Amino acid sequence: MSNRLSEIQSNLGIIQTRIKNACSAAGRDISEITLIAVTKTYPASDVDLLKQLGIENVGENRDQEASSKKAEVKNEFKWHFIGQLQSNKAKSVVNYADLIHSVDRWSLAKEIQKSAQGINKVQPVLIQVDLDQSGPDPTRGGIWPAELSELAASISQASHLELKGLMSVAPLGEKPELAFARLKDLRASFLEEHPQAQILSAGMSDDLEAAILHGATHLRIGSSLLGERPKIG
Ligand SMILES: *Cc1c(COP(=O)(O)O)cnc(C)c1O
Repeated sequence: MSNRLSEIQSNLGIIQTRIKNACSAAGRDISEITLIAVTKTYPASDVDLLKQLGIENVGENRDQEASSKKAEVKNEFKWHFIGQLQSNKAKSVVNYADLIHSVDRWSLAKEIQKSAQGINKVQPVLIQVDLDQSGPDPTRGGIWPAELSELAASISQASHLELKGLMSVAPLGEKPELAFARLKDLRASFLEEHPQAQILSAGMSDDLEAAILHGATHLRIGSSLLGERPKIG
């Protein structure tokens, strides 16, 4: 076994133990949890190694990196687009993304809808919610909770979009437990209107336990699986 493979395998073992313990603490079944390996900044060769470890889902946050990496990767995966998305990149992302996590405005949803229609695809999407309580900020990803219901209604009416659930990132400067507790409440009212949209994408390397406790179904795990990312710039 290559060094890199055994390194990732050992990291994966630790993460699986954390997930198992968090599920028992929350009284949840481990089969409810999908692990998405966030492979941004890591090479296509690492992505292919993940296949040998049974990982089926990978996440990327930049279109250019994701599209070229996907072309290089030899194995089949489900590709998750998890980064902030400019409307002019929608067309490219729709070509390869099995799930887009970061829809946070109707102008973007409309571009995704148009691109999906163009290739006869119904694009599964999540709405990203901004949990930061310091007020709406367009430079952060995510829709302000007060506007969630209206965006969700519009997306659910769109012919080439399929609303699958919600996504969020715990804000800096607040305990993730508190932020994810608010997310759980938001999700409960969201599910009354969209009962089929059961995905909750929340939880990263440092806060997966809090996310599982508050109902996450999809974890986005990067550094604790693949190692610290090289600093950019
Ligand atoms: C990078 C990234 C992750 C993974 O973060 P880690 O702390 O490395 O696990 C998860 N979600 C999003 C949106 C990201 O950009």
